[in-house]
Amino acid sequence: MYPVTSADSVRITLEDGRELIDGMSSWWAAIHGYNHPVLNAALSEQTDKVAHVMFGGFTHEPAVELCRLLVELTPTGLDKVFLCDSGSVSVEVALKMALQYQHARERKKKTRFLTVRGGYHGDTFHAMSVCDPITGMHTVFSETLPKQFFAPRPQCRFSTGTGDRDWQQDDIAPLDELLAEHHEEIAAVILEPIVQGAGGMWFYHPQYLRELRKLCNHYDILLIFDEIATGFGRTGKLFAAEHAGVSPDICCLGKALTGGYMTLAATLCSNQVAQTLSQGKPGLFMHGPTFMGNPLACAVAIASIKLLLHNNWRKKIQALEQQLWHELEPAKNAANVADVRVLGAIGVVEMHKPINMALLQKFFVDQGVWIRPFNRLIYLMPPYIINSEDVSRLTSALCRAVALSS
Ligand SMILES: *Cc1c(COP(=O)(O)O)cnc(C)c1O
Repeated sequence: MYPVTSADSVRITLEDGRELIDGMSSWWAAIHGYNHPVLNAALSEQTDKVAHVMFGGFTHEPAVELCRLLVELTPTGLDKVFLCDSGSVSVEVALKMALQYQHARERKKKTRFLTVRGGYHGDTFHAMSVCDPITGMHTVFSETLPKQFFAPRPQCRFSTGTGDRDWQQDDIAPLDELLAEHHEEIAAVILEPIVQGAGGMWFYHPQYLRELRKLCNHYDILLIFDEIATGFGRTGKLFAAEHAGVSPDICCLGKALTGGYMTLAATLCSNQVAQTLSQGKPGLFMHGPTFMGNPLACAVAIASIKLLLHNNWRKKIQALEQQLWHELEPAKNAANVADVRVLGAIGVVEMHKPINMALLQKFFVDQGVWIRPFNRLIYLMPPYIINSEDVSRLTSALCRAVALSS
């Protein structure tokens, strides 16, 4: 463990005085870097007004404004917002919404979920049940988890601008078969749109989501997108669902929501889901966290979103995408590298064999960068504000690590 004393912009300072260039955005959240004057100001101004007040019976401007912004910016049809504490909780909330919705419609057999392999949705119990059973890091608990349905990981790779050239209809067939057989038991399908994050950093074809939307409509099943990792520009669109042009019925947001300042997440749903579940028993959604709608977190989230929107984020992510591709692609030639892929502000080098974590972590710190690989993957997800010189320091350290691992 490396003790941190401070962080500013894209640099993290250790106790011993060393400075590391941040390639991880603190689990992909600190999109504007650290110690940002605008975010600091939003937080301290809100502190002077009210740091927290219960959200039962009370409401407040930061929560109202944040929810308006989220409804406006997310794909059409997501009209209602539930604010909660963390990404995992927002997934629990999404799954509970789907169950209450089906219950209210007297579809009482619809109590299970379908997902794809290679996914990651968090560390609480129902969230664990829809993570990949192998890469999901939860095998110790597998006996106690509810049993869900798993389709294979989407195989067709992400591609843009080429229409459906790289799409193979077979890719969705196994999922279609599972739905055909079990749709009466399934409340919802949940998956990460376009980019699977912690389950394997895999980018898949947008047509998969379009086909999935059709199947969910056909079988009367809700569709949940977990945009916790992909939301707020990371993939080159504000939300990854936009690559496919489809809207889910329920959507989870987290991670970059507050620019990495505070823990906050949100679950959005359609009017239809919200109305249906509140018409059933017990007449309202059964979830109410103590720190729901925390004003400090809401205030910093509003400031972070506005900062993103007002700073030409599209151009920045495009430039990052080009530079990451240009500088990581040569790693493809190394014999120990299985694949290199880049999308938006995500650069991934996949090795043939699991990397030596202890060795590489020290190597990166000695190189003055913060990169945290896992399993066979060495990847970069830097803050969007990083300059091209610092990107080059990250990519060259990564490429040296690849050479070292051979
Ligand atoms: C990180 C993550 C979660 C869990 O969020 P926490 O805030 O760590 O609970 C869920 N889904 C996805 C896609 C994530 O990347």
